[in-house]
Amino acid sequence: MTYEEIFKSVVLAQNEFGSNSVCISLENELVFVDAGMNATIASEFRKNMEAKFGKKASTLILTHGHIDHFFGMGAFADLKVIAPTASKEKIERYVKAEFTKEIVASFEIYFPTFTEAAQVAKLFMPSVWFEDKMALGKNEEILIQTTGGHTNCSSSIYFKPEKVLIAGDLLQVEVSPYFGEPDNDLNKWIQTLKLWEKMSLDAYLPGHGPKINVDYLIKVREFFEQLL
Ligand SMILES: [Zn+2]
Repeated sequence: MTYEEIFKSVVLAQNEFGSNSVCISLENELVFVDAGMNATIASEFRKNMEAKFGKKASTLILTHGHIDHFFGMGAFADLKVIAPTASKEKIERYVKAEFTKEIVASFEIYFPTFTEAAQVAKLFMPSVWFEDKMALGKNEEILIQTTGGHTNCSSSIYFKPEKVLIAGDLLQVEVSPYFGEPDNDLNKWIQTLKLWEKMSLDAYLPGHGPKINVDYLIKVREFFEQLL
């Protein structure tokens, strides 16, 4: 896992075999976005950030119900965990699942370190659900919004003070974007990217890969339009 300080209060952790995680430092607390796939790695990220900022973690936000984004959630079991209502069924399926050898092996095909991650995984249901919008922080510094696109529950997080958009898998950089499920909606996805283009930010943080700027975002949107 590599860490990059995006701005003073935002750190991006890139994960080779799971989703990225992001740490946002608010006045008195730390908010994490997505847990990645491995609870040990997520726990290390949390500890490092708590030491760096001298604050305790309070909240984990999940951007959507894909396993590579929440399989490491055990590292945040003592916190408030927020997820989109539309992701409830997806998350519940895995919380209730028994990860037999066969099932673990089938995930390993897509996620090469899944066996290791399964050994330390502790899944549980999030404690707070939001329908399509939610604000967090004393001055509502963090805005969470579900737009759909990559999945019907796909959500993003905007951190107002430093103008950073945390996109979940609505952005996947330096990889072929994954859009292989029935609840994928390319029209909604394109509409969301267009809204983000108008914001013209310097920092968009994807679910996988490095930070991008608005020029890269435009190319992604054009790719999806051609595909459609
Ligand atoms: Zn995803």
